[in-house]
Amino acid sequence: MEWKNLPGGRGRVQDRSGRGGGGGLMAGGIGGLLLMLVAAFFGIDPQIISDSGLVQTQTQTQTQSAETGEYDEVTEFLDRVSNSTDQVWTEQFAASGQQYNKPGVVRFSGATQTACGTGTSGVGPFYCPLDNTVYIDTSFFAQMQQQLGGGGDFAYSYVMAHEVGHHVQNELGIADQVQRQQQRVSEVESNQLSVRMELQADCFAGVWGNHVTDLAQLTQEDVREAVNTAAAIGDDKLQAQGRGYVQPDSFTHGTSEQRVNWFMKGFQGGDPAQCDTFQQSYGQL
Ligand SMILES: [Zn+2]
Repeated sequence: MEWKNLPGGRGRVQDRSGRGGGGGLMAGGIGGLLLMLVAAFFGIDPQIISDSGLVQTQTQTQTQSAETGEYDEVTEFLDRVSNSTDQVWTEQFAASGQQYNKPGVVRFSGATQTACGTGTSGVGPFYCPLDNTVYIDTSFFAQMQQQLGGGGDFAYSYVMAHEVGHHVQNELGIADQVQRQQQRVSEVESNQLSVRMELQADCFAGVWGNHVTDLAQLTQEDVREAVNTAAAIGDDKLQAQGRGYVQPDSFTHGTSEQRVNWFMKGFQGGDPAQCDTFQQSYGQL
């Protein structure tokens, strides 16, 4: 992937990482490996954020702020990927006569304040619908590489684009509808709605990938990276690793196979209309 071909423009990403004393990408311990991974991928989503107790800890953690860090490659990478998702989604919305409002994008390390409560790096990258912002702790990329075997620039882009996918859902009013519906149904059905949301965000990430294929000179190897990542973070796989058994009723993100399939559907077709994960019966997703 030639990510430096993606549109430049510094300052798209707000850098709250407070770097300065080294650390950077490799910061963050490996302790609690699976716990962290599970937390990471269950914590990504709006409804999970409000369920996970983040909100009540709002005042306890100091926000690490300040634009002290230099403009490093990680921030440049996040800027370019974000500029690119802005471009692609602005075009996609315009094609159906709609206006796309870009999300905020924040890079942080440790903990940061959000309208959804304090976000911590243990939660992994996430989207807060209340402030329309994607939060990304880049130490997560290093963890992905070490623990999931899912490293690589396009794999990181997929994670970013997935979070932006949640913003697209917010913009389209899908997130609201689903959340309202989730309040009326059983836990199992609510989890199924969550899976539909997640698979759609995977598909939207694929749509973005499709539209930057030429510009970023994506290769087979890049696609394999993203697919490996999608496969590594399926609920079935994470549960099998974490608990030793799998409980499909408790899935909130979909199986490895589903995540790969929906990502590829978006990637191959490049058409968000093909990402309707709410139409077909749950068993056929
Ligand atoms: Zn998600």
